[in-house]
Amino acid sequence: MDRAEVTAWVALGANLGDAAQTLREALTILSDLPGVRMVKASSLYRTAPVESSGPDYINAVAELTTTLTAPDLLIALQGIEQDFGRERPYHNAPRTLDLDLLLYGSASITSPALTLPHPRMWQRAFVLVPLAEIAPVLVSDNAMAAVSGQGIVPYPEQAPRTISPA
Ligand code: AMP
Repeated sequence: MDRAEVTAWVALGANLGDAAQTLREALTILSDLPGVRMVKASSLYRTAPVESSGPDYINAVAELTTTLTAPDLLIALQGIEQDFGRERPYHNAPRTLDLDLLLYGSASITSPALTLPHPRMWQRAFVLVPLAEIAPVLVSDNAMAAVSGQGIVPYPEQAPRTISPA
C-alpha cells in the first residue's frame, strides 16, 4: 500500500559562492526528488551569520509533501548537501548549502540523527521570516517578536521607489 503524503517544511541556507543560485538549484532538485512534491517556496532573504562565520547567508523555506519517512527525507536532504560539496572542516563552518528539516507533519522525534521539530527553528529569524511568508498560521506574533532583533532583508534588496515628477 502506498504511504500517505505528509507535509514537511525544509529550511535552506548558503553563504559560499553564488548562494542565491545555489538555493534556486537546490529548490529545483528538492522538487525533483522521488517521493517529494514541492508545494510552495518562499522568496529569498539575506541574513548575517548566526553561530557561524563568513559572508551573509541567503535563506529560504520550502513546503513539501512527501511519501518518504522523516529519516529518509533527511538522508535525501543530506545527499543534496553533499552534491553541493558541503564540507564540515569545523563546527558551524561556512557552508555551500545547509538543509534542515523543520517540521514533518506533527511528528515529534528525538533520536541521535534527527530531532523534530527542529530544535533551534524558533530562535532563528532566517527560518521564521520565510516560514511566515508561506505559512503565516505556523508563526505566532510572539514567536516572531522573539527573533525581531535579528537582521534579515529580502534578497535581492528592493531599491527605494522614486516617484518621477509628472
Ligand atoms: P547542521 O550542521 O546544522 O546541518 O546539522 C546536521 C546534523 O544535525 C546532522 O548530524 C543531522 O543528523 C542532525 N539533525 C538532527 N535533527 C535534524 C533536523 N531536524 N534537520 C537537519 N539535521 C538534523
